[in-house]
Amino acid sequence: MTGLRRLGHPGSLISPTLETMSAVLADIEVIPLRIQLKPELPGAALWGGELTAADSLLVKVTTDDGIIGWGEAFGLYGTALAARALDELVAPLCLGRDAADIAALMDHVQRKLHVFGRGGAITYALSAVDIALWDIAGKRAGLPISTLLGGGDVRAMPCYASLACYTEPQRVRAAVRRVVDDGFTAIKLHESQLPAIQAARDEAGPAIALIVDAGCAWTLDHAQGLAADLHAVDMLFLEEPLWPPENFDGLAELRRSTGLPIASGENIGTTMEFERLLDAGAVDFAQPSPAKLGGITELRKVFALAAARDVAVMTHSFYDGPGLLAAIHTTAALGGAGAMIEWRWFDLEASIYGDALTTTAGRVTLPDGSGLGLDPDPDVIETYRFGV
Ligand SMILES: [Mg+2]
Repeated sequence: MTGLRRLGHPGSLISPTLETMSAVLADIEVIPLRIQLKPELPGAALWGGELTAADSLLVKVTTDDGIIGWGEAFGLYGTALAARALDELVAPLCLGRDAADIAALMDHVQRKLHVFGRGGAITYALSAVDIALWDIAGKRAGLPISTLLGGGDVRAMPCYASLACYTEPQRVRAAVRRVVDDGFTAIKLHESQLPAIQAARDEAGPAIALIVDAGCAWTLDHAQGLAADLHAVDMLFLEEPLWPPENFDGLAELRRSTGLPIASGENIGTTMEFERLLDAGAVDFAQPSPAKLGGITELRKVFALAAARDVAVMTHSFYDGPGLLAAIHTTAALGGAGAMIEWRWFDLEASIYGDALTTTAGRVTLPDGSGLGLDPDPDVIETYRFGV
C-alpha cells in the first residue's frame, strides 16, 4: 500500500488518492459481450422483449505505466449506445488525465457533458470508467476496493436470485424451483401480473424471501388496488411499482396508504435525485446501481445519504461483470445488516469470470485479489465478444 493515504476509520468514506501517483489514463477499450441463455427455461423476456442472450459492455482502462482496470456500463438492450457514448464523448475527456484522482476526473467529465443529459448512456459510460479506475487504485495499493472503502471483516454476502420475466405461471414456477434448488433463500421476480407473482409464492413456500419488481408498470390507483393481494404474497419489498420511475411523490403515497415496503433508485442518474427520493419518504430500500449511476464514486455517496436518513441500501446490479463486483465490494464495506446482493440469474452458457465468481447456498464470497479482485476470463471475452 505504498503511497496510499488512508484516512478515517472503518466505515468512513476514504479517498483512494495516491500521494505519489503520476500515472495517466492511456487507453480505454470497449468490449461488448453477448452470452446465450441455456435453453432449459424457455419463455424468458424483459419488458416484453424475448430474451435469448445477455449483452454486457465491459470497459478496459490502461494507465501509461501498464496497470489495467475493468469497468462495466449498464448494457442490456443498449450496449451500442453506451459504447458510442464512451468512444465519442467520455473517453476523449478522460485520456491523458491523472488516473488516481478519480473524484476530480468524474466531476470534470460530468460538467463537460451535462448538456447531453444527467443519466442514461453517457452516465452508464462514465460509470464504467469510474469502476475501472477504482480497480486500478486497488491494484496499485494492493488492497481490495472494500478495504479502500473502509470495510472490515465481511468476506461473504447473501445474494438474491434476480430472475427474468416469465409471465406464464407455470414458467414462473419452473424458474423459482431452479433457484430454490440452487440454494437461494431470496428471489426477485420481474413480474407485474398477479397470477405470476402468486405462483412464485406458491412454488417457493413461506420460507423464501420474495421481491417483486414491477418494472414501473402500474399507476398509483392500480397499485393501491393490488395492495391486499400483494400483502398476502408477503414480499420483502416491491420494486419500482409506478410509472414514471421519478414519480417520487406517488411512491411515497403508495407506501403511506398501503404500508407496502417500497424500493426504487436504479433509474436515478444523480446523487441529488437520490436525495429527493429519500426526502420524499418514497422508499424503504434505496437502490443505487453502480453501472448506471456513476460508478463507486457516486454509489458510496448514496450509502451516506441513505444512512443519514435511516434508509437501507440494496444496490441494483442486474449485470454480471465489474459492475456486480463493484456492488459486492461497496455493500460489503458500507451496507448494513440485511443488505443483499442482486445476483442476476439468467442461466447463461458462460460467465464473465468463469468459475471464479459463483454463489454457494445463496452467498457470494468476496474475491481475495486487489481492486475488484478478479479480471474477466480472457477465453470468455474471446468467445463472446461481438461488434456493436
Ligand atoms: Mg429493477
